[in-house]
Amino acid sequence: MEIVLMSEVDETLAPEWLMDGNDRCDSCQAQAYYCCKFAEGVLHFCRHHFLKYEDNLRKTTYEIIDESSKLEPQEVLDHA
Ligand SMILES: [Zn+2]
Repeated sequence: MEIVLMSEVDETLAPEWLMDGNDRCDSCQAQAYYCCKFAEGVLHFCRHHFLKYEDNLRKTTYEIIDESSKLEPQEVLDHA
């Protein structure tokens, strides 16, 4: 008999990461580490493309979720 544990959700705890390997850069399909929220919708970017468009993105988005801290220094080089 299977016992299903009901885990209590503490809403004060944010999810560790909002993006994972299924979130892909809208420019190059690399793994996305930035989620840019616009009034019209959401775009995901890898580190490379986020940095490329950063100036413009900061002017046009109302929120940017930066999960680039997931990247190890070596990965930054690999994905740059
Ligand atoms: Zn990209």
